[in-house]
Amino acid sequence: MIADVTPIERLDWDSVGQRLYHVPFTLDGAWARLRVPLSITCAPRPGKTIVAIGGTHGDEYEGPVGLKNLINMLDPATLTAGRLIVIPTLNVPAFQSAQRASPLDGGNMNRAFPGRADGTITSRIARFVTDEVLTRADVVIDIHAAGAGMEIARCASFHEVADPAQARAMTETALLFGMPFVMVYSSGFGAGLLTEQAEALGKITIGGEFGYGASADLQGVRWAHEGVLNVMRHFGLLSSPLVNLVPPTIDRQRVVVATDIDRYITAPFRGISEPLVPLGAFVTRGTPVTRLHDFDRIDEPGAIIRADSDGYVLMRRFRAATEQGDMIMVIGQERSA
Ligand SMILES: [Zn+2]
Repeated sequence: MIADVTPIERLDWDSVGQRLYHVPFTLDGAWARLRVPLSITCAPRPGKTIVAIGGTHGDEYEGPVGLKNLINMLDPATLTAGRLIVIPTLNVPAFQSAQRASPLDGGNMNRAFPGRADGTITSRIARFVTDEVLTRADVVIDIHAAGAGMEIARCASFHEVADPAQARAMTETALLFGMPFVMVYSSGFGAGLLTEQAEALGKITIGGEFGYGASADLQGVRWAHEGVLNVMRHFGLLSSPLVNLVPPTIDRQRVVVATDIDRYITAPFRGISEPLVPLGAFVTRGTPVTRLHDFDRIDEPGAIIRADSDGYVLMRRFRAATEQGDMIMVIGQERSA
C-alpha cells in the first residue's frame, strides 16, 4: 500500500490504528512536490507520545532502515496506550542523493531548526516538525550515524540540560538502547539542532550515533529498531517486557561526558590521519591517539596527537584524508549513571 499524500492540515494524529502518509511540500523551483514519509500509530488509550526520526542527515542509514522495519513489523493492535510517530527519512532530498545535506538548497536539516514557514524547503520541513510533531511529543528520538567522514563510538546521546529531572529521564531512556556508550555532549555546534529544539521544549530527547561510513550496520539497525521498541515498553506503549540489547562482548554500558568543545581535538594541518588506539578504548593522559602524516614530508614521522586527559576515545577520523581543523579525536570521561 503506497502512502496517501495528505496535506499537513488533514493529517489524522489521533484516531486509533496506524496511518502511513506522504506529507507534501511544494518545491521552491519546480512543478513537483516533495513527499516526506510519516507514520502515525495510536492506541485506544491515551498515553505518552514517542517520536522517532531517521534521515535527518541523508547519508546515515541505520535510522531509516531500523525505523522502516519498525513501521513494517509493528502490529498496531499491540499498542496498549499512547502514540508512536515515525519519520524514517526526514531530509528526503538529502537521502535520495546520499548526501548529508539537501542538494536542493544546501540545507543541513540538523542546523535548520526551528525552521521557517516562509523559508526554503529544508527550513519548511523543519518548521513542520517543530510545530506539528515535536509539540505533540513526550519523547523525541533522532537517530544519526556519524556521517561519511568520522566514526563515533556507538552511543545514545543527549546534551547537558539544566533540569536534573529531564537529565535523569534522558539517561534512563538512552540506556534502553543497549549501546556501549551513553554520551553527554556539547551543544556548542551552533544553532538549529533538532534535538536542541526538542530539549528546549522540555521533551525527553535522545540522539545517537548508530553506525558510520554511510553503511547500514547490522548491530546499528537492530539498536535503532529494537531500541525504540524498548523505549515504547518503558513508557507504556507496549506491554511486552524490555529486551536486553547490550552486546555480550562488553562488560557494561558507560555514561561518558564530552561537553567541552574546546577540548575536541582538531587537525593542526592537512594530512592523513592514522589512529593509534581503537575507538572506544580507555586511554590515559599523554597516550598517543592519532598520528597525522604530511606526505610532502616523508622525512618526518608525522605529528603525534596525545590524549589530553584520561578517558574513552569517543570519536575518530574515519576518512583518512584530513583537512586542517577537521575533528580527529574526542575523549570523554565516564560518570556514574
Ligand atoms: Zn547525523
